[in-house]
Amino acid sequence: MTDGSIPAERRIFVNRTLNLRAIRAVGFDMDYTLVHYRVEEWERRAYEHARAHLAARGWPVQDLRFDAELVTVGLVLDLELGNLIKATRFGYVTRAEHGTRELTFEQQRQAYSRVLVDLREPRWLFLNTLFSLSEATLFSQCVDLLDAGKLDPTLGYAGLYRVVKSAVDATHMEGALKAEIAENPGPFVELDPDLPRTLLDLKEAGKLLLLVTNSEWSYTRAILSYALDPALPGGMSFRELFDLVVVAARKPEFFTGHSALFEIVDDSGLLRPALGPMRRGGLYLGGNARSVEQDLGLAAEEILYVGDHLYADVHVTKDMLRWRTALILREMEREVKSSLQFRPAQDELNRLMAQKVALEHRTSLARLELQRGEHGAGDPEAARARLTEIRAQVVELDQRIAPLADAAGRVGNPHWGLLMRAGLDKSYLARQVERYADIYTSRVSNFSLCSPHAYLRAPRVTLPHDPDAGWSP
Ligand SMILES: [Mg+2]
Repeated sequence: MTDGSIPAERRIFVNRTLNLRAIRAVGFDMDYTLVHYRVEEWERRAYEHARAHLAARGWPVQDLRFDAELVTVGLVLDLELGNLIKATRFGYVTRAEHGTRELTFEQQRQAYSRVLVDLREPRWLFLNTLFSLSEATLFSQCVDLLDAGKLDPTLGYAGLYRVVKSAVDATHMEGALKAEIAENPGPFVELDPDLPRTLLDLKEAGKLLLLVTNSEWSYTRAILSYALDPALPGGMSFRELFDLVVVAARKPEFFTGHSALFEIVDDSGLLRPALGPMRRGGLYLGGNARSVEQDLGLAAEEILYVGDHLYADVHVTKDMLRWRTALILREMEREVKSSLQFRPAQDELNRLMAQKVALEHRTSLARLELQRGEHGAGDPEAARARLTEIRAQVVELDQRIAPLADAAGRVGNPHWGLLMRAGLDKSYLARQVERYADIYTSRVSNFSLCSPHAYLRAPRVTLPHDPDAGWSP
């Protein structure tokens, strides 16, 4: 950080201008926000637990293996057709896999030419967080089994999903998985050496630090002491870092409801109802966001909430409370790096597309000339000759465009391409992010790179009628 320049993939990306100096309290989610898990390890373990549940029901899942490339966040499950899809910001499907097989363009057209993704319909399930990966991978693989006649055909895809989801939920509910991880976090937690300093910087800048997590106290304590305590100065513990800790918060209900608040009175997790207002330094279970605002004397726009779950952390918070919101999306690092790597090829593709648009314009004009000629106003033969000549150029150009366009669709992930783009458009994920997250970034420690005093300014967006926006002739 000597010259202050921030690597492109570690920047904070801004949808709505945010002055960090006007923020008085920063609330954090824990899992995949403050603490990043090694996705392979965590999700593979969750997957294996859930697979064991299904095996115990007699499902033929012995040969299934977790594949971390198959699914990414921001995709949508189609429970009616058993597909995994990627859509544009308007809900048009641009890529689809049935089970673990990619649909051909024609199959995709038949399935989706009259369908728009709308998350209000129960048919669609948005993959909100990295915790969705094990569930979605197992579902896709079980779709293959159902199609092959190896599972009860009366289940249907939606029924199949319900069973897979209950197996994954059971894994989380039982606590077996979390107990295993709390016992020995090392293999699962990817430590960020800059995180403790970042939180101290925010605190020393005068901000209240809040922790609001759905995890239980025993798990939270094990993970945060592992991730933070060794790097905090002078024997300080994470408990002294946070002005308020709320565990088992039941987000999103925490942001919408009026759940009862309990105080955790000792390390064994003993509870007593909290009757008075929340106090600084307190450790609580349950409760709700309105009492956080009220008891700490904070206005909605003075609170920044930072989380990785698009719905539970960011969408509801923005919709119901108008808190300022930050989304942690670790994949942005791969997204930005791979976009940068592909940039020379993208520039070439843009150049060729501009040529193609010019040729298409000439084609249209020649067609119009031919049409007029055939109706007695001009020379149809000359127009025909020009059309033939242009067509040959288009064919030659298309051959150069095709491999580049295909490569552009696979940047970052061989199945799905860039998360935030769908073809030339923004992806459905990008739309959710711009709508609900004021800012988004790959990890919490990026707040130190920009400093707690940053004025985070939204860029001027491009519109199709901007002079430099399109390929119009
Ligand atoms: Mg989380």
